[in-house]
Amino acid sequence: MEILKDISALRLWRQAQTKVGFVPTMGALHAGHLSLVEEAKIHSEQVLVSIFVNPTQFDQVADLEKYPNTLDADLKKLKTAGVDAVFLPDFDQLYPDDYRYQISENDFSMALCGAHRPGHFDGVLTVVMKLLQLSEANQAYFGEKDYQQLRLIRGMVKAFFLNVDIIACPIVREADGLAMSSRNLRLTQEQRAIAPQLYQIIRSGHSIERMQRAIEKAGFELDYLTTQGDRLLVAASLGEIRLIDNVPYDNLVSLNKNNKHTKVKQA
Ligand code: AMP
Repeated sequence: MEILKDISALRLWRQAQTKVGFVPTMGALHAGHLSLVEEAKIHSEQVLVSIFVNPTQFDQVADLEKYPNTLDADLKKLKTAGVDAVFLPDFDQLYPDDYRYQISENDFSMALCGAHRPGHFDGVLTVVMKLLQLSEANQAYFGEKDYQQLRLIRGMVKAFFLNVDIIACPIVREADGLAMSSRNLRLTQEQRAIAPQLYQIIRSGHSIERMQRAIEKAGFELDYLTTQGDRLLVAASLGEIRLIDNVPYDNLVSLNKNNKHTKVKQA
């Protein structure tokens, strides 16, 4: 596995490759990230992963400072997974303009997570644009866990005619249903015990109002619980840790229309 520490190393590596599948990450890798790598191995000839904790997408300095860094373990996992190359840029490499130039979307990015995290999606879209340009990826893999992000990236690729296929990968969960996230490492034992309830509640098939009450009763501070297309999306915090999750909504809609508060079989 090649370790590419700067842009010239990445460009040199890229010249020798054919069909590159790219998985951008912020590190602290778990099985969710590795599922993207597995998908990339199926559809692409070479797999490139980037690890870069992108400061421009953090609206809270404390959140950035506390973001877990497990680089050695991450590299071992990627090597075992059969990744071809890992790109490890630093801020100065990726932002020679010091973030004077930005990609922003002025509609959907303002809603949901964007409403609670000002500037977050500008940072995400800008760094993803930079990484897609540099990697010249044929395919790029993103998790449905970050559903709003996925939608916005698809929109950006379309708006700017980027020559890359965006491939969505399903949410990978812990055995108790909690969506895997690097931030889960920061939950206290007590919070970790509460956290899986978020998924259990949003897949319950109950009315939105009833789910809202259940989320708050469980001890979360609810940011939003809302439908978006065929998805039910939620963001809620336990202390300073903000969790997001989503489930397909079609089943839930038909259940609610019939006014039945039956459980949904499987999200
Ligand atoms: P992050 O390191 O949090 O920026 O995530 C990097 C990529 O992994 C993004 O495309 C995420 O949507 C994806 N990802 C994170 N957690 C999961 C998960 N539990 N299941 C599937 N994909 C995930």
